[in-house]
Amino acid sequence: MVNAIERCLELSRQARGQQGEALAQTLAELDAVLQLARSAIKPADMPAMPDPGATLELDLTGYVTGWSAGAQAMFGYAAAEVIGQHVLFLYAEDDDDGNIAELFFDHSPGEAAARTEVRRRKKSGDIIWVHLDINLRLDEGGDPSGMLVRVSEAQQALSDQDKINLHARIIEDSEQGVLVTDAHERIVSINSSFTRITGYTPAESIGKTPDLLRSGVHDAEFRAKVRTAMQGGGPWRGEIVGKRKNGELFPQSVTISAVRDQSGKISHTFSLFSDISVHKDAEARMQRMANYDPLTGLPNLCLLTTLVGQALTETKRSGEHGALLVVEISRIGAISDTLGHEIGNELLCEIGRLFRATLREGDVLARLDGYRFAVALLHVEKREHAGIVAEKLLAALTSPIMIAAHSLQVGAHVGITVYNEDGADVPTLIRYADVAVARAAQSLESNFLFYSEEMNQRAKEHLRIESELRQALQNHELQLYYQPKVSLRSGRIVGAEALLRWRHPLRGMVSPGVFIPVAEETGLIHDLGAWVLEEACRQVSEWRGANLSMPPIAVNLSARQFDSELPKRIAAVLQKHQVQPEQINLEITESLLVRGTDKIIAIMNELVAMGMALALDDFGTGYSSLAYLKKFPISTLKIDRSFVIGLPYEENDCAIARAIVTMAQQLRQEIVAEGVETAEQMSFLRELGCDQLQGYLFSQPVPAEEFAGMLREGKRLAFPNR
Ligand code: C2E
Ligand code: MG
Ligand code: MG
Repeated sequence: MVNAIERCLELSRQARGQQGEALAQTLAELDAVLQLARSAIKPADMPAMPDPGATLELDLTGYVTGWSAGAQAMFGYAAAEVIGQHVLFLYAEDDDDGNIAELFFDHSPGEAAARTEVRRRKKSGDIIWVHLDINLRLDEGGDPSGMLVRVSEAQQALSDQDKINLHARIIEDSEQGVLVTDAHERIVSINSSFTRITGYTPAESIGKTPDLLRSGVHDAEFRAKVRTAMQGGGPWRGEIVGKRKNGELFPQSVTISAVRDQSGKISHTFSLFSDISVHKDAEARMQRMANYDPLTGLPNLCLLTTLVGQALTETKRSGEHGALLVVEISRIGAISDTLGHEIGNELLCEIGRLFRATLREGDVLARLDGYRFAVALLHVEKREHAGIVAEKLLAALTSPIMIAAHSLQVGAHVGITVYNEDGADVPTLIRYADVAVARAAQSLESNFLFYSEEMNQRAKEHLRIESELRQALQNHELQLYYQPKVSLRSGRIVGAEALLRWRHPLRGMVSPGVFIPVAEETGLIHDLGAWVLEEACRQVSEWRGANLSMPPIAVNLSARQFDSELPKRIAAVLQKHQVQPEQINLEITESLLVRGTDKIIAIMNELVAMGMALALDDFGTGYSSLAYLKKFPISTLKIDRSFVIGLPYEENDCAIARAIVTMAQQLRQEIVAEGVETAEQMSFLRELGCDQLQGYLFSQPVPAEEFAGMLREGKRLAFPNR
């Protein structure tokens, strides 16, 4: 039994380096118990200490001159046996390194004491550890005359019995379950952790076989391996599923080993095991965290990728098809902003439930991030079937959703990609479905779209333009052109519009019609807009420096630039270049008016109060009604080119132009006609009472010097004589 315990401890030590973390932890605990047991062995627990007054006296060369009763008790020699002997007779044979500890210390006065711990031999032959406390003795004249050596026994090594007691305690206190069986595989000993983990008391387990804990989970091959270990085939470590007394199964990390007696026969087998169900639970939790969205409990991107990845491999082999749908929910952001994020989150969960209820069991529904869900249809017979599923998902959102007494209406767009036609890996499929979602969001016809290569090209083109446009700002590839506005009364230049030009190093001139929408989508318009304003002001101040009297220059503003800080930003630029506010007009589009909140009107009023004039660009292409226009402090209307083209032959265009001019006159707004290319158009507009004209008829947009040249020359619009 002592052997078994020894072996068990030994194995515990080995296991530290070799087993899984769970066991290592248990072993650390076992170690701690050992420490505790060590410190618990108080002097009182130790065998009776010999007389602390063991002293011997030596002369300066090491011969014994005095031997106390204590020394006799400690070493077993009577004084008569040792007086006159050299102290070396007390030395343990292998301890003699040539130095005589009793003589080897600092002899300097005042330092005449030394302590050391050495091994010494008793008369019985036993070796003991002792402390030597050596003091130099001085004669009357103050010279060294000999040594007084006090000897006390160092901590005594444990006796065999103490060892057994200590080990038994360590095992008993161990967090690990311990199970010892005899050669007949009968349980002969267990510890309290065994009872705690399995539920079986010693009375219920001693005498039984370890089958008591058999879960029935493992197959014959596995059980054979364990049996081999028990029969002496070397230690075995691994995880076994055990069964507690209450029937519950639990995973355990186990070390099994056999102990042999002197003749080499197996006398005992023992198992050390720890209950790792806690670790397994944690593992399962981590597994969940890695694969599921914490809010909705739906699979996340990671799990979706795994599942679709498997389906992709399968469909490649079988030639079947699958589809991946990305669903983007709209309006949740606004709902969260106004009603709080809890409502937004609950809404997302409810949408998840509605979608789940709409789909078949085999379909995978995942939440990607934010407001995006994904649906994987692992097998579809026809592309169209994926469209039907998209329609069903959208239909699930047509009625308002009730969350905490709020009736909430959301919208959604779906992008569909089909594999293995569109893409061969999951990230590509998701990217394609995203492209299709973005297109569906812009489309007026359908809320769901299938991905097509053409979409992909456009998306790529967008990305390319975005990155090149960033470069353009830094590399000074941007320039402003100026297109004159001329008075239809005097024929003189009365203003100009600053229009952005991008000289692409490879592609030449890129139209703002191409890059402005991309800049607006990506937010780059903020930087572009700031550059345009800065450049226009710089140019105006340069012209002023050249003594050129300049009419107002109009700058286009994107709706995205229109925030409460805009007046401040503009004021700062004007200030920087010492430009008067009247020198700069601002062209805004109808989309801004449609947003028409009080905030927008307040910003407009601020700009007007600063002395700036606002013009409404592309008028007639948006939805603003004439009555609506009254709300805004706009001084100029620009009739869009699309109504000018048909003049004077298209009846509709003529009627519209007439209506706009009449209304603008009533509102006392100036009217500028854009895109005038022919003299007929000009005459018609002039007769209608239009104030200004901007178009190729007079001039294309031109570089700054050219525009300055026109002004210097006093270039005028010629009116045909009628
Ligand atoms: P827009 O503000 O309506 O500018 C007028 C557009 O009509 C300009 O096109 C101009 O070159 C063009 N145009 C003028 N007269 C004629 C004509 O007789 N015939 C024809 N066919 N076209 C004419 P551009 O320069 O290509 O600008 C297109 C649009 O890009 C602008 O429309 C404006 O919305 C935007 N844009 C240009 N520069 C800027 C800018 O600095 N900031 C912002 N936010 N947008 C700008
Ligand atoms: Mg404009
Ligand atoms: Mg325009």
